[in-house]
Amino acid sequence: MLEIVPAFGRIGEENAFAVLARATELQRQGKDIINLGIGQPDFATPPNIVEAAIKALKDGHHGYTPATGILPLREAVAADLHRRFGATVSPDRVMIVPGGKVTMFMAILMFGQPGVEILYPDPGFPIYRSMIEFTGATPVPVPIREVNGFAFSAEETLSLITPRTRLLIINSPANPTGGVTPKAEVDKLVKGLEQFPRVAIMSDEIYDQMLYDGEEHVCLLNYPEIVDRLILLNGWSKTYAMTGWRMGYSVWPERAYEAARKLAVNSYSCVNASAQYAGLEALTGPQDAVGAMLREFDTRRKAVVAGLNKLPGVSCVTPKGAFYAFPNIKATGWQAKPLASALLEQAGVATIGGPDFGVHGEGYIRLSYANSLANIERALDRIGQFLGRNARD
Ligand code: PLP
Repeated sequence: MLEIVPAFGRIGEENAFAVLARATELQRQGKDIINLGIGQPDFATPPNIVEAAIKALKDGHHGYTPATGILPLREAVAADLHRRFGATVSPDRVMIVPGGKVTMFMAILMFGQPGVEILYPDPGFPIYRSMIEFTGATPVPVPIREVNGFAFSAEETLSLITPRTRLLIINSPANPTGGVTPKAEVDKLVKGLEQFPRVAIMSDEIYDQMLYDGEEHVCLLNYPEIVDRLILLNGWSKTYAMTGWRMGYSVWPERAYEAARKLAVNSYSCVNASAQYAGLEALTGPQDAVGAMLREFDTRRKAVVAGLNKLPGVSCVTPKGAFYAFPNIKATGWQAKPLASALLEQAGVATIGGPDFGVHGEGYIRLSYANSLANIERALDRIGQFLGRNARD
């Protein structure tokens, strides 16, 4: 019997990958499955970015790079943050990591241990809780509520901080809800945090360009009051349709940067060199593809929300960010996970049950609209017919 340490009994995963596997299996059996489960853009990485990676390989970038990433890329990240938010960031605080996830992995490892508490959004990205539990820290969910348009509440967040709190995780625009927290609420949170100097903040801003209806992103780097204890999580996966390239970046306070660099040296050494050159082209090359993708997402967003609100027992607030809709399905009489499972098995539509994102996700399912408009319309049709045939009370 292998004796793997008990922490691995507590580590979780992302059910989205299990749903993807099941959807693929059903497709293999010849079933027509529409996948609204997976959280990745259905666009190809723009060709100029692909070409930059090919060129890097041809130019001989085959070796290790510095653990924190190549300097021109760290400079480009700093310049991009300055261009978009006016934030002043030293390239020495920027770290290139293999995907957005790695920043949360490192940050939670740095602050989590038995006896401390870590606050995280619920419903929220499932890896937050999984990693908190792995470290033995106590996960404290911050409820993200539909009545607030799925923005977080500063007051409620602050009320959950105790002398044991070491890390607060926030995420806007948010997965799985598409919620965007207004600036006034962020201002309030930051003001309140001044009373809790021991609490580090990790702001997951991976959807920062995926905003609609004229929303503007509120970057936490713009709050000098907390910048000495702020970890910014961001990356290329969503904005540039680069999920498979594994390219992310983070901005760290000085001491934490050293710790993160050592974690990199002790695990993956550095991010794939050619992917870093692709990331450089993404930030410094033309941005038209990003705009085109966002316009397409916006069209689909409107179609998804309008379609969902016509279904029996379903209501959906309009998401202002990311590429997810998080409809309330309570009035259908179904529990969320059985509904998501029945939709996949019986209606051929992959979605994710809200409880896969935390206990406060019960009563909701997540639909990713990273699929064609035609498929979205077909999926809505199928869900409507399924609910018509399978009313619960
Ligand atoms: N943070 C959030 C909120 C996400 O939704 C995701 C991916 O779905 C990530 C981080 C991780 O991104 P990556 O694929 O770059 O690791």
